Amino acid sequence: MEVCICARQSSPGLVMRGDRRSGMLDFEAIKQRVAEVGFPFDELQFEHVHTCNLCASSRQCVITHRDRYGLPVNAAMCMDCGLVFLNPRLSYAEYGRFYADYYRPLVSAFHNRLIDAHTVQAEQLPYAETLAGFLRRHVPDNSIRRLLDVGGSTGVVAQVLTRAFGCAGMVIDPAPAELTLAKDRGLEVEQGLVEDLALGKFGTFEMVILCQTVDHLLDIAGSLRAIRSSLKDDGWFYVDILDAEMNLRRNGVRGSIKIDHPYYLTTATMSAYLESCGFVIRQTLIHPDGIHVGYLCQPGPVVPLPDMSVVAARTFDLIRSVQIDPRLA
Ligand SMILES: [Zn+2]
Repeated sequence: MEVCICARQSSPGLVMRGDRRSGMLDFEAIKQRVAEVGFPFDELQFEHVHTCNLCASSRQCVITHRDRYGLPVNAAMCMDCGLVFLNPRLSYAEYGRFYADYYRPLVSAFHNRLIDAHTVQAEQLPYAETLAGFLRRHVPDNSIRRLLDVGGSTGVVAQVLTRAFGCAGMVIDPAPAELTLAKDRGLEVEQGLVEDLALGKFGTFEMVILCQTVDHLLDIAGSLRAIRSSLKDDGWFYVDILDAEMNLRRNGVRGSIKIDHPYYLTTATMSAYLESCGFVIRQTLIHPDGIHVGYLCQPGPVVPLPDMSVVAARTFDLIRSVQIDPRLA
């Protein structure tokens, strides 16, 4: 989907205060900049999340009532598996409007610098080169004929990878302006969200990538199953997460939660998602930023979700230990 630059806490203009170890952000300054964006929060439609997308439990605990932008956004943790998610969250239609009109201005206000299609492309390139190096080390030469980039934005990453593997590339993204740029790069494009598209109609792929996008999805399990069915039996799937555990340690609870991420994944919950959706994890990559963790997978058996109660208890303890804001609201 959109390039997620939310973890770049060292960006110029980002004001830090207090104990850097706690990662406390200057929420008042951020809130003032966000107010200038004119984000019509009160007009938006929200929907409640009654069951956990990973384990189907209905047992939740609210962990914050406000996000990093200062918006009154609630996040919850599933008490049975430790998955963290927004609840309520924007409806499907509202997320479309959000990405079209407010996502980049909000992120720009947070980081106190302009972030637009051009700056995003520049930031995607080193990411793409790191990823290409990782994939080339583990995926055999001449084994990729078609690559699908789900949420591929302007196609920078897909272009680097199709050149690295000498294959054709296709980008799926909801943003038409970004797809125009992807098309100019010689990539096949399709507008839409992975939750909406019947991926089967595009045939099968030797490689599917989901880069800095999984936290933006509304139905992670359904999307992973759809991706698996679009892969060749010996194909490769790459997905990465903004590691929520690391983010919580760096930025506290409120500093980690944002309206643009319906989900907050850890290495434990992402591994559980992959294995329960029929993937075997072959290789793992920690990106140079230290906070994005990538998984290179292949189709495998669907493994029943294990008992996640220890993960949930550990995540709950972590959340309490970094709940440094004087108030949750
Ligand atoms: Zn759960």
